[in-house]
Amino acid sequence: MHVSGTDPDCVFCKIVAGDIPAEIVSETERTVAFRDLNGQAPTHVLVVPRLHAADIASLAVAAPDVAAALLVETRRIAVGDGHEAYRLVFNTGADAGQSVFHVHGHVLAGRDLTWPPG
Ligand code: 5GP
Ligand code: ZN
Repeated sequence: MHVSGTDPDCVFCKIVAGDIPAEIVSETERTVAFRDLNGQAPTHVLVVPRLHAADIASLAVAAPDVAAALLVETRRIAVGDGHEAYRLVFNTGADAGQSVFHVHGHVLAGRDLTWPPG
């Protein structure tokens, strides 16, 4: 099952529940955003849905309203840190660098972001 309420073994479900501490940036009815433990830019915030879904495509199929709410939140996070421009990354699948299988958008801003990404 890729989309469910919560997964007891999932680190981001534990952050959403408040069982693991994180530097929370914003909370909405459907999303929670917190700073990445290993920041790669002056702003590096992870925005996740409260419900557990493995990746952005699974979330978009199962709960498109939640996927849209997550996308809306990305700009609020960047602007909240003083940035109009930002990069949004969803690593999707282990071979693409995904290491936590609870969907999270990386909101990156505050430095030159080169293209193509590594
Ligand atoms: P991925 O590689 O799956 O796209 O990104 C996972 C991100 O989660 C990494 O950038 C990693 O630094 C971050 N991360 C992993 N565990 C934790 C944690 O417990 N707390 C926070 N704040 N970030 C985490
Ligand atoms: Zn989860």
